[in-house]
Amino acid sequence: MKAARYYGNRDIRIEDIDAPAVEPGTVAIDVAWCGICGTDLHEYLDGPIFVPEHGHPHPISGESAPITLGHEFSGVVAELGEGVDDLQVGDHVVVEPYIIRDDVDTGPESHDYHLSPDMNFIGLGGRGGGLAERIVVKRRWVHPVSKDVPLDEAALIEPLSVAYHAVERSGVSAGQVALVGGAGPIGALTAAVLTALDVTVIVSELSELRRQRVLDAGVAAHAIDPSKVDVVEEVRRLTDGRGADVAFECTSVQPVLDTLVEALRPTGVLVIVSIWGKRAEIDLHKVVMKELDVGGTIAYVNSHPATIELVESGKIDLKPFITGKIGLDGLVEEGFDTLINRNETAVKILVSPSGEGL
Ligand SMILES: [Zn+2]
Repeated sequence: MKAARYYGNRDIRIEDIDAPAVEPGTVAIDVAWCGICGTDLHEYLDGPIFVPEHGHPHPISGESAPITLGHEFSGVVAELGEGVDDLQVGDHVVVEPYIIRDDVDTGPESHDYHLSPDMNFIGLGGRGGGLAERIVVKRRWVHPVSKDVPLDEAALIEPLSVAYHAVERSGVSAGQVALVGGAGPIGALTAAVLTALDVTVIVSELSELRRQRVLDAGVAAHAIDPSKVDVVEEVRRLTDGRGADVAFECTSVQPVLDTLVEALRPTGVLVIVSIWGKRAEIDLHKVVMKELDVGGTIAYVNSHPATIELVESGKIDLKPFITGKIGLDGLVEEGFDTLINRNETAVKILVSPSGEGL
C-alpha cells in the first residue's frame, strides 16, 4: 500500500509498504480522508519533535523514524480482529490517535490518560498513520460515526475534539461570551464548538480572509481586526462593560495573550490552546486583581463521543473548514507547501491516500 513516511526534517517520502495485519482486539480501517495538521508541518519544518528519531525507539510503540504520518483521519472498517464484536465491516469510523501505556486507565471515567508518561500519537510516534491506504488500530481508539456524516467532514472530528476539550476546560456555559484569539484551524473550530453550545463568540484575527470565513460559517457573532480596532474596548462595548467570560489563546503570540488577559471580566477564565515554543509573559498583577483562572489544554480525553454527537446532530457543520483535497503524491508540494506559504486561504487540506473521492 502507499504511505507517506517521515524520515526527518524536510524529508517525507511516499513509499510502497506492506499493509498492516489485523491482530486480536484491533480494527483494520481503509482510510478515506486524512487532514494535514499544524503538528505535521512542525515536524516537517522544525522536527523531529513528536516523531522518535531514527534509532531511538519510542518507549511504547518501539518504533522510530521512518514512521507513517497522519493522525486526523476517517475511514471504513475493512476487517475486525478476534474479539471485536461491536463493529461491523463497512462501518464509518474515526480514530482517537493515542499511543498510551497498557497499564494506564483509559476507561470512560478517566480524565487524564492523555497526560500519562510517554504519551504520543498514532501517525507521529508510530503504529501507522492516516496518510496511508490502511491502518490497524486497537478497538479502544476507534469511534463509530453515523453514515449521515460525510467521511471528508468526519476527518475533522479529531481537531474538533481538541477544540471541544479546550471548551470543556473553560467551564463556559450557554449565554456567556467567549473571546477567541486567532482564527486558524483550531481557533475556528473552537469558535464552532462554542457557538454550538450557545455561547456568543467574538473572534480577534488579523487576517481578513479568516475573519470572513468564521463569519460566513456562522461560528462567530463578531470578528474584530486587532490592527484597526481596540479589542479590549470592543469586547467591553459588546458586553455592557463587563468583559468576556472566557478567552481562548489560539495563536502563541504575546500581544494576543496580553489582550485576552485585559479583555476578560473579573473571575474570567483563560485557556491556552496553542503550543508555545518559547516562554511567554503574563501580567500576573492583572491575573491577581481580577482573580482570573489561567489553564492549559492539550489534545482530548474521552472527548470524542460528545464531539461526534455535535457533528451527528448537525449542530456543527464541518464543511466550511475543508479548503482542499489532494492525493498522497501531492502531499508535500500541494499540501505542506500550501499550508506553509498560503496559510490564510487554507484551513484544512484533506488527503485521500487511495485517490478515491478526488
Ligand atoms: Zn492534529
